[in-house]
Amino acid sequence: MRYSRFLIPTLREDPGEAEVVSHRLMLRAGMTRKLAAGIYTYLPLGLRIMNKMIRIVREEMERIGAQELLMPAVQPDELWQESGRWDLYGKELLRFKDRHGREFCIGPTHEEVITDLMRREIRSYRQLPITLYQIQTKFRDEIRPRFGLMRGREFLMKDAYSFGRDEEDARETYKSMHDAYTRIFNRCGLKFRAVEADTGLIGGTFSHEFMVMADTGEEAVVSCGSCEYAANMERAESKVNDGGTKSEKEEERNRVDTPGVKSVEEVSAFLGVRSDKLVKTLIYKTDTGPVAVLVRGDHEANEVRLKNLISANELMLSDQEAIEKITGGPSGFSGPVGLRGIRIVADHAVGQLSNFIVGGNEKDVHLVNVNIGRDFKVDQFSYIRKVLAGDPCPKCGSPLSIDRGIEVGQLFILGKKYSEPMSAKFLNKKGEEAFFFMGCYGIGIGRTIAAAVEQNHDKDGIVWPIPLAPFHVQVIPLNVNNEKVMITSELIYGSLLGVGIDVLIDDRDERPGVKFKDADLIGTPYHVIVGEKNLNEGFVEFKDRRTRELKKVTVEEIIDHLKGLFNRRRR
Ligand code: ATP
Ligand code: MG
Repeated sequence: MRYSRFLIPTLREDPGEAEVVSHRLMLRAGMTRKLAAGIYTYLPLGLRIMNKMIRIVREEMERIGAQELLMPAVQPDELWQESGRWDLYGKELLRFKDRHGREFCIGPTHEEVITDLMRREIRSYRQLPITLYQIQTKFRDEIRPRFGLMRGREFLMKDAYSFGRDEEDARETYKSMHDAYTRIFNRCGLKFRAVEADTGLIGGTFSHEFMVMADTGEEAVVSCGSCEYAANMERAESKVNDGGTKSEKEEERNRVDTPGVKSVEEVSAFLGVRSDKLVKTLIYKTDTGPVAVLVRGDHEANEVRLKNLISANELMLSDQEAIEKITGGPSGFSGPVGLRGIRIVADHAVGQLSNFIVGGNEKDVHLVNVNIGRDFKVDQFSYIRKVLAGDPCPKCGSPLSIDRGIEVGQLFILGKKYSEPMSAKFLNKKGEEAFFFMGCYGIGIGRTIAAAVEQNHDKDGIVWPIPLAPFHVQVIPLNVNNEKVMITSELIYGSLLGVGIDVLIDDRDERPGVKFKDADLIGTPYHVIVGEKNLNEGFVEFKDRRTRELKKVTVEEIIDHLKGLFNRRRR
């Protein structure tokens, strides 16, 4: 490709709107442009990167026998009514009506469409298991689209769906998908971890997320340095200390005046006690009724675990009015003692405490020396808090660490979550009708590319991992008006193109400084710099973008070297 003919509108200045490095650099490098919030155009350079990623994904999907198809973006509401998600999905689902007044949505995911297809097309167990995938545009009306391609509203996803006879089929496909994902992200040159995940709105029983580790990641990844345990924060737990500290003698319960003192920090400062002697009482509103949740003062409730525990679809903290009604006191002073008509669930760590402090369900009042059993009852204990760094690993007891990650892919076993309500069945070996046992598996194409930039950049621009690089080599003639320089540059360009290396020749009549800056910014892994002075001595310069190492080499050497390098990579 010739730079002079190729649309690469690089920007010298940082665009103000960009909050993270990948967004900033991809805008600056002329790879993407924003059309509306969370909606982006891929310019030619950006599309080349995307196509590289897609190629890797396709190769690894084909390798495990998944078949590609393409489903529509626009989906009729009937299917979503059948699965029950038309009402559940909320505002992220972009809905509209056609000219006949029929309701549609733009697919945020395709379980319904594929399940509908399979129930029509698959008859017998002999056709199972089968895995289909597509690389297709999704739309999710995200509440806060941000970070460029990382959290868009319109975005490209690889979504695969497996249909098996039973759980064993599903687990086998899951395992091969897990391996395929590992190969995909390895081939993209990323540092990542597969972590246990919650199954969220899609549901199911088994799930992993693939996380690219980066400080700008939106997800907290909990992992053990000593064993293989790793989970996302929603799912993570730590070892519960069941030895307990209950040996402490129960003291007499007292009311204390705490005027205007509400938060854990305020109460512990006011009473001069550590925050782990306090118990927070959170009143939640859920679709399965209100619930009072107790966690230690220094802990935070894990709302996802809580939701799963009480089988709720919706869960949110109650407003002032509801709190007054349930507890009799204002928010900030809630406590479990004397609470009636509400289920009380407590984190295991609360079960270890004695003589602790809670709100008094009355303005400006707290209770001290409160004890479970004597002063109130807990309906259920469970692990419903967020893990803290240093907590003991649930598997081996070593301290856990918490790092940031970007979720680039997710695997789910869905079971019969869709096949049952949508009545998607096949005939099993015995000739009986049975529901498909399903799995689904997604990868965000744009998000993975952005994650690659988060992990691979320096102060001057992007440093593409070679498999994703839009061009492998950039030939940079320093003076396009010098015949000798141009003949040599064209020779190198042509020789590399001839063996299938992606080469960009910067044939613009620009100053060397401009060309160097652009080459560094767009992140081509190798630069070949052709200047008159070096040529007169028989050399060109070879730059490795990542190490910035600059070497003088002959033209033959550089062509041979690059041919060898890319031949090896292809093998
Ligand atoms: P998140 O929790 O980040 O919103 P999700 O769990 O809803 O994502 P999935 O339904 O698992 O996402 O979608 C599969 C993959 O699609 C994700 O792993 C991610 O790589 C990608 N993806 C999801 N939402 C977006 C988005 N808004 N923009 C870009 N990619 C996305
Ligand atoms: Mg997910």
